[in-house]
Amino acid sequence: MLLREVEYARPSSVDEAVRLLASHEGARALAGGQTLVNVMKARAASPDVLVDLSRLDDLRSITVSGDTLQLGAMATYTQIMASSEVDVSRPILAEVAAQIADVQVRNRGTIGGNVCSNDPTNHLPPLLVALGASMTVRGADGERSVPAEEFFLGVYLTAVGEGELLLSVSVPATANAADGFASITIGRDGTCIASAAASLSEGAPRIVLGCVDAVPILVTPAAADEVSVREAVAGAELEPPSDVHASADYRRHLAAVCAVRAVEQAADRGR
Ligand SMILES: Cc1cc2nc3c(=O)[nH]c(=O)nc-3n(C[C@H](O)[C@H](O)[C@H](O)COP(=O)(O)OP(=O)(O)OC[C@H]3O[C@@H](n4cnc5c(N)ncnc54)[C@H](O)[C@@H]3O)c2cc1C
Repeated sequence: MLLREVEYARPSSVDEAVRLLASHEGARALAGGQTLVNVMKARAASPDVLVDLSRLDDLRSITVSGDTLQLGAMATYTQIMASSEVDVSRPILAEVAAQIADVQVRNRGTIGGNVCSNDPTNHLPPLLVALGASMTVRGADGERSVPAEEFFLGVYLTAVGEGELLLSVSVPATANAADGFASITIGRDGTCIASAAASLSEGAPRIVLGCVDAVPILVTPAAADEVSVREAVAGAELEPPSDVHASADYRRHLAAVCAVRAVEQAADRGR
């Protein structure tokens, strides 16, 4: 048998989904299944109940209201890439979504699943911290908003607690976004070995490094020039993991390279 036996529910409202998640210990939300089903196959996770979010159309919407772009947790990478709302308000999201894995993964994988799994090699956690995003989380006691900087707590660990559901991700919408993203991947569309996202849109430069710690690391250089960026990355005193793809030293070097590239891209766009 491929998977351990598991109960399955497909709620038709957010209320029902939250009720199911809160009332069953060992219940897990199922979004695109691109991570969850794989870890279930590997027996690294074995939820008792899968709460399939696929009928919750409200969680798929992408809207701009005033100066906020709101992406429902079930918006797929393909949807984000095709969205005119994203295109006019924060196009870097579409550009980075297009770099994730392959067409199959992009058709199924969701922004909510990407951030809730918080794999340190994922593309979106550093990007969303750089953009100053916030996450809306719903539990049995109601809704709360969590800044992206406080959302990622550890490897595969986020502010979404047991029995809670991520509803949406909000990003400041800005007509002249000066954002950039750079990564070094395993193969052309593969997993990131090092990544960095940069935003120069909100005054002081924000650079966020991926793959160097359990959570995205925010650094704020005094200026957006190469020397200041390298100094800020060095000042973060990174202790990245060492593995078959890169030693800790090499990953530290790549973090600085990606940070400089991401800032250069952001600066070019802000001109
Ligand atoms: C071959 C392959 C290559 C990949 N390469 C990359 C890559 O290079 N970069 C990258 O960023 N990602 C990569 N991924 C991961 C991919 O982006 C996944 O789609 C994503 O990490 C999980 O999204 P999902 O919608 O499939 O979530 P699922 O797998 O369904 O769920 C993942 C986790 O999030 C939880 N969850 C999902 N939605 C919610 C919600 N709304 N509220 C609460 N909890 C929720 C689930 O319970 C589960 O624990 C790759 C995946 C594959 C299979």
